[in-house]
Order: sequence, then structure tokens, then C-alpha cells
Amino acid sequence: MDVQFLGGAGEIGRSAVLIDESLLLDFGMLTDSPPQFPVRTPSPDAVVVSHGHLDHVGTIPALVSGDARPPIHWTPPTYELAMTLARDTLKLHGGTVNCPFTETNVKRVTQVSETHGYRDSFEAAGYEVTFYNAGHIPGSAHVLVDDGDTRLLYTGDFHTDDQRLVSGTTARPDADAIICESTYSDVDHEPRDTVEERFVESVETTLWEGGTVVVPAFAIGRTQEMLLVCEAHDIPCYVDGMGKQVTEMLGQYPEFVRDADALQRAKSHARFVTGKDGQRKRITDQKAAIVTTSGMLSGGPAMTYIPEIRGNPMNKITMTGYQVEGTPGRDLLETGSAEIDGRIMPVSARVEQYDFSAHADRDGLLAYLDSYRDTPVLVNHGDRCEAFAATLREDGYDATAPELGATVALR
Ligand SMILES: [Zn+2]
Repeated sequence: MDVQFLGGAGEIGRSAVLIDESLLLDFGMLTDSPPQFPVRTPSPDAVVVSHGHLDHVGTIPALVSGDARPPIHWTPPTYELAMTLARDTLKLHGGTVNCPFTETNVKRVTQVSETHGYRDSFEAAGYEVTFYNAGHIPGSAHVLVDDGDTRLLYTGDFHTDDQRLVSGTTARPDADAIICESTYSDVDHEPRDTVEERFVESVETTLWEGGTVVVPAFAIGRTQEMLLVCEAHDIPCYVDGMGKQVTEMLGQYPEFVRDADALQRAKSHARFVTGKDGQRKRITDQKAAIVTTSGMLSGGPAMTYIPEIRGNPMNKITMTGYQVEGTPGRDLLETGSAEIDGRIMPVSARVEQYDFSAHADRDGLLAYLDSYRDTPVLVNHGDRCEAFAATLREDGYDATAPELGATVALR
């Protein structure tokens, strides 16, 4: 089995792993300006996708251009999320070099889509493939690829701890080689219940004092997690942005969330913002939490909310995820002001950060890999893949960090 890294090696974004020039795992997009895509577009016989985040599915429609019609295998939520993201990319970049596919390509994805549940083995390009729940977002999967001689486990993104939305991964299928993500290989997450406790106390205090809290959140996974937290603690909340339709969609796949009833309650508890008749400006003086995209303040309805609430120190902005350098969210945390909609805005409202991560941290990665002591590990999807591979080698593992474009022979 020859494995080539077309993206996501030594970096986060544009994940793409090609097996024997035949089976493609993920085909993502690195959001930057301009966006970046895998180093080349192959012509695979079949495609298998780990989960519905932009850095794993963002460039998928480009694989069904010309005469190419490879079947695309994924779980039902991953398919839905990929289509939502593709349509969003068309809206943002369609018709420019920053969008490597057309509306026709996106429609074609529907024709070649084949959905599968967890632990339901299927055939793709002559390989036996099985999905296992990866505990990252609904529908996320570890992908086991078996060619009859070699079993390759591609972890995709995963979490070992429970979140309210999804349970942590417990699957440890036998494998002869493993490609392991390493997003937080040098981070120790604060325990999730402590993070949640601090968040809830902070929001409740602000609402009690008469303020409003804007909760920037990624549309996929994080928005639903925050709605679940709000419902569990009876915090009045609104939801806005792409997270609304993702929440509606996930309601149709109860088997891919941890507690479908809780998600249903959270959906009923939250008020969905339509944005009609100046509703956004009107609700900024409500004593409520407003859960909205974008998670890093780089677009979405947050662009309306932040200017409205920023002047009052009684209000609060609570970041719920990692803020990439150069984003308005990061600038706001570090300097107290940010460029919102083209204008630099000082913010008097209080700004806080909470680590509601959906990835395993250092201890989580090590605990997971402890089940694969004698298995060669290829480290990818991280900013410090080589350093983590070195840590693993010191601990007795056969670990490497392939470079972008490199091919590794597994025998
Ligand atoms: Zn992800």
C-alpha cells in the first residue's frame, strides 16, 4: 500500500491522502486568503470522507469535473455538511480562482454520493472500508482501509472525551499502520465540565447585571454544543448564522448525536433569528446569549452584533474556540479591538475565551495511541507534526511525520 500526502501533512487544512493512486481519503480546503487546495487533483477510483469540516471536504466537488464520476463514500451527516459547505463556498468565491468547482459539480456530488453507517463495511475501489465513530462532530469517522494484506487506520479528527453533542471515541480497530491527527499535540485541555462551569457562571453574571452576551461559534458542531449548554443551564439564547440550518439538519440524524432528545430540547429552547425587520439590532439589548457565526468574527451575523454591543462594558463576547492568528477574533482577544466589516473597532464590552475543543489534547492523543504501541504511526494534521513524532519515538513508537507531497510505502 502506497500512501501519498496531498495535503494536511505538517499543516492543518486541505487534508488529502491518496492510496495507490486509487482511493482518496478526504479532499479539503485550507481557509486563508487566498484559500489553498491539495497539491494536485488526482483521478481516484473512489473517495472516502472522514467528516464534514471544510478542511476535510472543502474541495470534494472538484473531483467530479470533466468525465470523472468516482463514488464518494461518507456518513449521511458528512454528506449533508459537505453540500452545505460547497454551496457556501460557491456563494463566497464562485466564479473566481478561489473556487475550484462550479454549481454543476456540486449537483453532481449528489449523484455519486453513497452513505454508510458506523461499523458497516463497504467496498471502495477494491478495498474494504469501515467507519468508526470518531467523537469529533456528528457523523465524524475513523476510516479503516483493508487491501487484504494491510489494514490502514486513518483517524480523521477525533476526541477521546465526551462532549454534549457527541460521545468520545471508543473504537480501536486492529491496524497495521495508522495516520493520526495531532492538532493539539502540545495542549492540555482544561476539563470540559470546568470550562462549561466557568462559561455558564460568566454568562449568567452578565445577564443578571443587564448585559447581552455574543457567543461566536463555528456553525458545525460548536453552535449545537453551545445550544445544548444553554438549554442545560436554562440560559435564554438566540441562534443565528449557518449554525441554524446545521442544527435543523442534525435533528434528522438522531443516531449520530449523543442524546437526540437533548438536541431536540436545545433546538426548542433557542430562538432562531430570521434577521427580518431589524431583528438583529433589536435583540442586542435583550438579556440573552446570542450564539452566532462566524467563530472567529471573520463574517456572518456576528458582523451585525459586535458593532451593536461593543460600546457597553456591561456586555460580553465569549469566544468558544481556537482563534487563528490574523483573524479579528484573535486581534480582539489580544488588543481589545478588531477590524469588523472593514472598520477598526475598539471594544469596551468584556472579551473572554473558552476552550470547547472537539479534538483530543496531548494526553488524549497519547491515550488513544497506547492501543497501537506496535503499529507504525504517521503523524499529520498539526502545526508541529515532526515534534510530536519525535515525542512518540522517544516513547518507543515507530513514528514519522511525512512531508507534503511525500509517498510512504506500507508493507
Ligand atoms: Zn474537523
